[in-house]
Amino acid sequence: MPLEDHIGDIIRKARLHAAVSIESTAHAAGITPAQLEDLEQNGTLPNPIDFTRIANVLGLDPAKLERIARGWEPARVDTSRWRELRLIATNSAGFGVNCYLVWDSDTRMAALFDTGFDAVPVLRLLHENELHLRFVFVTHGHHDHVAAWPQIQDAHPQAQRFPNTVSSDSAGAQVSFQLGNLRISARNTPGHAHDGITYIVTGWPDNAPAVAFVGDCLFAGSMGKAPGHAALAREKIITHILSLPPSTLICPGHGPLTTVSEELANNPFF
Ligand SMILES: [Zn+2]
Repeated sequence: MPLEDHIGDIIRKARLHAAVSIESTAHAAGITPAQLEDLEQNGTLPNPIDFTRIANVLGLDPAKLERIARGWEPARVDTSRWRELRLIATNSAGFGVNCYLVWDSDTRMAALFDTGFDAVPVLRLLHENELHLRFVFVTHGHHDHVAAWPQIQDAHPQAQRFPNTVSSDSAGAQVSFQLGNLRISARNTPGHAHDGITYIVTGWPDNAPAVAFVGDCLFAGSMGKAPGHAALAREKIITHILSLPPSTLICPGHGPLTTVSEELANNPFF
C-alpha cells in the first residue's frame, strides 16, 4: 500500500498548519511560487531544493522530509505476529480507507475499528472465522470511517458502538474495554477531528506488541490535516501515540501499517 501522503501533500499540509501563503513559503524556501505549487500538487521536486530551508519555514524536520522525498516507506510489518488482526481496505470512487477487525481466540468475540465504505468484507471475515461482533469502535465521525455502520448494525444488532453518538470532546477519556484476553483502552486524540479517539489494544497471545488504531491522527510519514488545530493534534499524537513502546504497531485510517519507532525516526512532523 503506498504512503497516504507524497512529499507535496506533506508540504501543503504543513503549510496549511502553519497558516502561511504559497508566496511567503516559496520566498523563504528560495523557490518560485510556481515551483511550490507544482511540488504540492504533484510531488515534483524543484532542482535544486534546499530541504533545510523549506522544512524550517514549515516546522518540519529537514532530514526526515528529505528521506520521504527520496522514497522512504515504512518497513513491511509481519502481521502474522497478531494472528487475530485483519486490515480491511475498502474504497469508494477511488478513495481508499482502512478498517480493522480483531478478535479473542478463546471467546471468538470480535471488535471492529471503523467500518470502511463496504460491510461485505467485514461480514465475510466475521462469518468465516465464526466470530461474535461485540464492539464497533469509531476513531472519528468522518464519513469514510463510518459509512458501512448501518449495514453492520443490521447484520449484528447486538454489537455495541463506541462512542454511540456524535461525541463531546471528552467522551473517550480513560475508558477501557475487555474483549476476552484483549484489553482496549480509548484515548482522546482530537486535532484532525474534534471527536478523534485512538484505541490501544494489549494482551495479545505470545506477547505480541500493543496495537494502536489511530484513525486519521497519524499516517506513515505524515499526519491527518488539522488546520487551526495543528498544535493540539501534534500534542495529542506525542502524548498518546508516540509515547507508546517503540514496537507498538500503528494502524492508520489510510496508507500502510507502521510502528512507533518508524514514525519517531522518519515522520517529518515530529
Ligand atoms: Zn478523517
